[in-house]
Amino acid sequence: MNEPTYTASCLCGDVRLHLLAELGDIDICHCAMCRKATGSAFASNAPIAASAVSVVAGAERLASYESSPGHERVFCRRCGSPLFSRTTANPGVLRIRVGVIDGPVASRPTAHYFVGSKASWWSIHDGLPRYDTE
Ligand SMILES: [Zn+2]
Ligand SMILES: [Zn+2]
Repeated sequence: MNEPTYTASCLCGDVRLHLLAELGDIDICHCAMCRKATGSAFASNAPIAASAVSVVAGAERLASYESSPGHERVFCRRCGSPLFSRTTANPGVLRIRVGVIDGPVASRPTAHYFVGSKASWWSIHDGLPRYDTE
């Protein structure tokens, strides 16, 4: 097996992923669905080729929810950790929830999306571009 660029795991540890490529830029998504899915102010997502993601443990724990047509959010059915999303429109790319990655990550956030849906209690304190769409 190739040495992974990153490992990732859910809260309970049953699901473990190997990421075999570098991530793309991190998107900060403030949309209401991402707030619900994370229980937090925003989701931190980064794209990676689906072929570079290997489920090395806990595949039977993976569950998914189709939050909008063709857009599935994949999570651990035991602990609820969000892991990645996938779309039928672009099946070759997964969007990893960056917070589940173990250890330092090279990618950095580059923009805020859906800021019109931002949590009222969260203030953006950086100079990154802000968009009201994806
Ligand atoms: Zn879990
Ligand atoms: Zn979102």
